[in-house]
Amino acid sequence: MIPSPKPEKPAPDPVLSARVAQIKDLVASCIQCGTCSASCPNLCFMDMTPRKMWRFLLCDRVEEVFSSDTFSMCSSCYVCTLRCPRGLPLTRAMAGLKQIGFHLHMARFRRAGLFYGAFMDNIAQYGRVREMEMMTRYFLALKDPLVPLGYAAMGVRLLAKNKLRPRLPSRGRGKLAHLFEPLDPQEQ
Ligand code: SF4
Ligand code: SF4
Repeated sequence: MIPSPKPEKPAPDPVLSARVAQIKDLVASCIQCGTCSASCPNLCFMDMTPRKMWRFLLCDRVEEVFSSDTFSMCSSCYVCTLRCPRGLPLTRAMAGLKQIGFHLHMARFRRAGLFYGAFMDNIAQYGRVREMEMMTRYFLALKDPLVPLGYAAMGVRLLAKNKLRPRLPSRGRGKLAHLFEPLDPQEQ
């Protein structure tokens, strides 16, 4: 019997490759000291240490990076950025990986990306989070009626304690939007 040929690897996505290259540049001078891993308050939620993830990225082991949960567990606390002896912009690099994950429409990052979008819209609108409005925007963006149902019991408890004030989402981006405009191209 003639063995069937091995399936060819799909060609790399040029947009993805360019974005990954930008992030690689940010961490190119990593010396693998491990300070970022030792400093990260979310390390216990990560399936790969940040130090190892940067190494994989620099070795072009991109599939392993994107199949890991590590960057999606980053809460942008900036501790690693402050402590990295090479002064690398690690929080920015983590954010870049999250953006790639979301823009690739990976199902597991979709919810996190929409939540982040609703959060940032709320901040641009008011300079603070209005929880009820933010969650309304998030649920509308999700277009999945089952998700709000999962929060219903908590919503009722918060309403009973007068912790939520129902409001309709406001229109427009609000008075603070101009502060965010220089950052918007980096979010694309
Ligand atoms: S702290 Fe900086 S130099 Fe050290 S492993 Fe992390 S990224 Fe690399
Ligand atoms: S910015 Fe992210 S990766 Fe860095 S220490 Fe904070 S949570 Fe960890």
